[in-house]
Amino acid sequence: MGSNLHYIRKNRFSPRLRKYAWIFILLVALGGLWHPRLGLLVIPVMLALGILGFLNGKYWCGNLCPHGSLFDYVIMPVSRNKKIPGFLRSKAMVFFAFFWFMFMLGQRLIRVSATFGAASFLDSLGFIFVMNYLVVTVSGSALAFYVRPRAWCSFCPMGTFQVLMYKLGKLLRLNRVTDKKVTVSATEACRKCGKCSLVCPMQLEPYRGFGDNNRFDNEMCIRCATCAVNCPAGILSFDNERRQSGTGALRAASKNSGGIY
Ligand code: SF4
Ligand code: SF4
Repeated sequence: MGSNLHYIRKNRFSPRLRKYAWIFILLVALGGLWHPRLGLLVIPVMLALGILGFLNGKYWCGNLCPHGSLFDYVIMPVSRNKKIPGFLRSKAMVFFAFFWFMFMLGQRLIRVSATFGAASFLDSLGFIFVMNYLVVTVSGSALAFYVRPRAWCSFCPMGTFQVLMYKLGKLLRLNRVTDKKVTVSATEACRKCGKCSLVCPMQLEPYRGFGDNNRFDNEMCIRCATCAVNCPAGILSFDNERRQSGTGALRAASKNSGGIY
């Protein structure tokens, strides 16, 4: 497992934003302890991840999420990087985490709404999100260290929120252009080496899951492109449905410039 761990650490697709997004946590989760209104920054964040979820599944998780950035770039070097236990990835866990989170958030919002108009209202509202951010930071970091960097992401309520928004986008057929999934240019060129699976932070198996349209249709995929940059055959890229059914001339597994997407 040691060499695998090394491999996962070194072969990452790391745009600058993904690398340093964790700094936002210092601002909200720590700064918010002194200035609770900083927690209000989480509201536009939740809005943004809902919109992105609608358009492109869990893209936020793999590319913009400050916690994901913390797990991947701060904790990964010291993570034990074990297999994520099945119960953390189970539907029951995902369901429980989501409804527990929504219930707690709802209760606190109702309580704080009673102070609407008071001078302390914005501080109280902000503090709800500061505490949420802190809880995710501490729990997610513990899991990232003791289990695997993205263990928390297996059941994160905000990830589930994105999946629900994504399902809505699919149902309304409004995200066909924006929905870019891992796509294989030629299944016959796949060496079945399993490297795409080995490096996947979510423990997914792209090479075993390509559908008829050559796309990897798994809602847990955080679209991080780690599999694409590590495929030795260079046959993985990100395509939407329209491009996939087009000329077929667009596979650039473009490792050079972030052109994976
Ligand atoms: S890394 Fe590439 S060649 Fe290897 S199994 Fe995955 S898709 Fe196939
Ligand atoms: S399948 Fe590829 S893009 Fe999706 S989470 Fe795994 S490594 Fe990232």
